Amino acid sequence: MVSGRVSYLEWMLQVLKESVELGGFPEEVYHILSKPERVLMVSIPVKMDNGKLVVFEGYRVQHNSALGPYKGGIRFSPEVDLETDIALALGMTLKNALNGLPYGGGKGAVKVDPLKLSPGELERLSRGYARAIAPLIGDVIDIPAPDVGTNPQIMAWMVDEYSRIKGYNVPAVFTAKPPELWGNPARIYATGFGVAIAAKIAAEKYLGGFEGLRVCVQGYGNVGRWAAYYSKYFGAKVIGVADITGSVYDPEGVDLDLARKVVDEHGGVGIIYYPKGQKTEDPSAVLYFDCDILIPAAVENVIREDNVNKVRAKLIVEGANGPTTAGAEKILSDKGVVIVPDIAANAGGVIMSYLEWVENLQWYWWDEEETRRRLQSIIENNIKRLISRYETMKSEKKGVTMRQVAFVLAVERIYKAMKVRGWL
Ligand code: NAD
Repeated sequence: MVSGRVSYLEWMLQVLKESVELGGFPEEVYHILSKPERVLMVSIPVKMDNGKLVVFEGYRVQHNSALGPYKGGIRFSPEVDLETDIALALGMTLKNALNGLPYGGGKGAVKVDPLKLSPGELERLSRGYARAIAPLIGDVIDIPAPDVGTNPQIMAWMVDEYSRIKGYNVPAVFTAKPPELWGNPARIYATGFGVAIAAKIAAEKYLGGFEGLRVCVQGYGNVGRWAAYYSKYFGAKVIGVADITGSVYDPEGVDLDLARKVVDEHGGVGIIYYPKGQKTEDPSAVLYFDCDILIPAAVENVIREDNVNKVRAKLIVEGANGPTTAGAEKILSDKGVVIVPDIAANAGGVIMSYLEWVENLQWYWWDEEETRRRLQSIIENNIKRLISRYETMKSEKKGVTMRQVAFVLAVERIYKAMKVRGWL
């Protein structure tokens, strides 16, 4: 417990425990999954541009390998600590299992604010981290990818560093690389594309269709802008968007191309400079606009007990990781609001990483259209399977959330693998 509030790890463990009970799995399953298999702590000395040496702290958590190699991103953030990294790694074990991927879960982190580093310092830190974790990763052992604060360029430096250590090219050891270096062009929009597919399928089930429904999106970065784009592409009307600079409301539909142009002209953040609609400098305002579907795709903990009653959407599709707190979820669930949880809704990124990994392992590639077709088919099947199981479990036990059901489905796969391996 952190100052009276439940930490992210505590909350994850709470839902895991409930799901192990709900799914009728042996208690030992909780005991195994509540702890990571292995934790690596690393110190990374980096020569800064001013000649001084700074030693950064980093981690790589290998949470569970019952279903395959560890898989999960690397976060560069001043806020990360080992406990958060363990919670994120557990989340990856569950996300990979839920989405049918042949992966276990892992997560890496470096305690740093990447925005305060020069490009040269960032490259030296990225290469230093890759060297530090190199003994424990590999293209069939542990396959990292980007997360908050890291990007395809950083993956390119890391795959280059790892390949130099090995003495030959190892493309499949990191995913979400630039298209120029064994990456796939569909990666850039994969997560937002998946969020929009999840929104469409859930809306067809719970709101009677998707065409013309009013959608609001918080966050106009990697996930948010593509979730908005594909929501419109699939027929909905995006009436609210927001980034850290503020919220924009336009009941006639936001001009998404213009919004993207304006944001890019301001270095990636700047929705407040969008020249039309009604604007406010409050980035949370978008959560309270009158709409049918809300897609929080910015940061965690934005829908909390203290503001949840202002949320008017009937369906929430979690683009970000952990945007809804446990208390807020309970209140929304009691009101009948459906939440498609993060581990299902934003899995497009890791599913795309899986496709890239398969390409790289075979030194083969699919073109963008073929990749998108495969991606769409996997996401659609997964979301439909989750909703169908949610409907069954809800009829058996009142008050069950889709998040709990997602955890049950994930644990079920891991449990079966652990059992047949003889771990239990
Ligand atoms: P990003 O940095 O590209 O974009 C974040 C966006 O959120 C920016 O527009 C930023 O201005 C906005 N923002 C930040 N703080 C805000 C606040 N308090 N209120 C409103 N807006 C705010 O990040 P991203 O890659 O789009 O990731 C967003 C979320 O999705 C994160 O939780 C991330 O873990 C999760 N996620 C991302 C991916 C991926 O493929 N990028 C995959 C799965 C999950």
